Amino acid sequence: MSRLPASLKRNMTLLDVHCHVGVDPLLYLTKSFPYCNDLRHSREECIRVGISHSVIFPWVTSVYYHLPSLRKGKVKLERKIGDAPFHFENEQMLEQLYEIFPSYKDMFIPFPILDTLRETRQQVRVLDRMLRKHPFYGLKVHPRATQAHVLTLRREGRVFLDFAKANNFPILIHATPASYDPLSQVADILQLARENPKVRFCAAHFCGFHQKLFEEADRMDNVWVDSGAMSIGCDLVVQKSNVYISGKEKVPSDYRKPAKVFAELSRRFPDTFMWGTDNPAHTWVSAAAGPRLELWGSMEREKALLDEVRGRLRKKVAFENALAFIEG
Ligand SMILES: [Zn+2]
Repeated sequence: MSRLPASLKRNMTLLDVHCHVGVDPLLYLTKSFPYCNDLRHSREECIRVGISHSVIFPWVTSVYYHLPSLRKGKVKLERKIGDAPFHFENEQMLEQLYEIFPSYKDMFIPFPILDTLRETRQQVRVLDRMLRKHPFYGLKVHPRATQAHVLTLRREGRVFLDFAKANNFPILIHATPASYDPLSQVADILQLARENPKVRFCAAHFCGFHQKLFEEADRMDNVWVDSGAMSIGCDLVVQKSNVYISGKEKVPSDYRKPAKVFAELSRRFPDTFMWGTDNPAHTWVSAAAGPRLELWGSMEREKALLDEVRGRLRKKVAFENALAFIEG
């Protein structure tokens, strides 16, 4: 049974399955770039490059956190703004969409974001309350930013799996196979998906190009993989960075030509792969402690990933697979 209203699927030609809106306190406080996006700007960008629809979620840290600690890269609760982690950000996104830009409700598909470790029951109560007021269609998790291991979804975050099942919501999770981020491992997400066959998961960011893990994801009926920020992902492989897989475990392709890599992933994983930009995080200039990264992308670059995929396959990666992920 279809879950998205018909009006939200009308004239769908290209669905960006991974977009952030709002302000990220961590990125702002560490003077990183980008750190914000708003709905009008996002919609204008979509029109400019030819995107008909977008899945949107807030950025990845919350003003419910203690901001002086966040500025130093540490997540602690302050509890002064909102009733739970991400209460403010999720409500802000939904109110902007449905009350300030109601004409956008046929183009944007909102997913609230979760902290899977802290005050999880309270978050579900808040989400239940929000859902009575404004529709949303899925959930988003960023383990590294929230400093909450993805496997907290087995314990403190179990209530979110129940919430997802009860509402038929998919869960899109930031993911990597690389060792620098032990909290967001693709292998752990696949394990969760095996344990919860009735919940649909997206492991974001192209499995970091890891061939075996992508093949494993592809074999599972309840797992999808998105292409969020794949252009700078290819740049990182060319630079032999350890942010993604640049060694021999990666899917073989010419990483100097991101559209070729995208076409190769689409050909290998035609039912699993979904196009998404990570807008505006297709660009990443990190000024936080640790290795400084400076990677420049654009919506045009992300759109150009599709250049070598045509016909039936293009439809699948452009929106059909994403609709299967969202609606089940
Ligand atoms: Zn993202």
